[in-house]
Amino acid sequence: ADGLDLSALESWIREFARLVADRRDELTELDSAIGDADHGANMDRGMSAVVTALEATPPTDPAALLKQVGMTLVSKVGGASGPLYGTLFLRMAGVAGDGTLDAETWARALRAGLDGVVARGKAEPGDKTMVDALGPACDALDAAVAEGASLGEALRRSAAAAAQGRDGTVPMLARKGRASYLGERSVGHQDPGATSATLLVDAAVTALAP
Ligand code: ADP
Ligand code: MG
Ligand code: MG
Repeated sequence: ADGLDLSALESWIREFARLVADRRDELTELDSAIGDADHGANMDRGMSAVVTALEATPPTDPAALLKQVGMTLVSKVGGASGPLYGTLFLRMAGVAGDGTLDAETWARALRAGLDGVVARGKAEPGDKTMVDALGPACDALDAAVAEGASLGEALRRSAAAAAQGRDGTVPMLARKGRASYLGERSVGHQDPGATSATLLVDAAVTALAP
C-alpha cells in the first residue's frame, strides 16, 4: 500500500499495544535502573485501555482514531509518559484529516506529534528522553520524503533511525524526568521512553506491510 488509511492506522495502534505488552518487562527493567520501575505498566495499562476503547467506540476516520488514542492515554496513564504520548497522538490527529496518509502527511503528522511532546515536556535532543528516538525518526522521514521514497521505505528508515537514537541514549546524562534526579548515575542506561517510542515507529512498519 502507498498510504495509511483508517484500517492501517488501527493496525498500527494495535501492533503498538501488542509490542508494549510483549516488552512490558523490558520497559519496566529499564525504568527500574533510572526511574521508578513503572514505564512498562504505564504503557501497557494505557495501550490496553486504548484497544478497549477502539472496540467499544470504533472511530470513523484517522483524526478521530488518533484523538481517541490520545485522550485515552491522557486519562489512563498517570506518569510522565501519559500526557506526553497523549499529546503526541492528539497533535497527530490535528494533521491526519479524514483520508489516507501518504509518506509526506505521515512525516508531517509525526513531526507535529514530536513538536507537541517538546512543547509539553521541554526536552531538548540529548536530554535522554523519548525525543531522542522520535527526533531522528522524524528527520529520517523528512529525508526519505525529500528523496521521493515509498511510504514503506520511509517507515523502515524512520524505524532504523529511532533504534539508533534509542541506543544513543545509553551514554547520555538525563536532564528531564525522574532519571534526571540521578545525575551522573543515569549515564550508562538506555532510556525507557526512547525504547517505547522506538516500538511505536517499529509498529508502523509492521502495520503497513504485515
Ligand atoms: P514517570 O517518569 O512519571 O514514572 P514513565 O516511567 O511512564 O513516567 O515514563 C518515563 C519516560 O518518560 C522517560 O524514560 C522519558 O523518555 C520520558 N520523559 C520523562 N520526562 C520527559 C520530558 N520532560 N520530555 C520528554 N520525555 C520525557
Ligand atoms: Mg517511571
Ligand atoms: Mg511513575
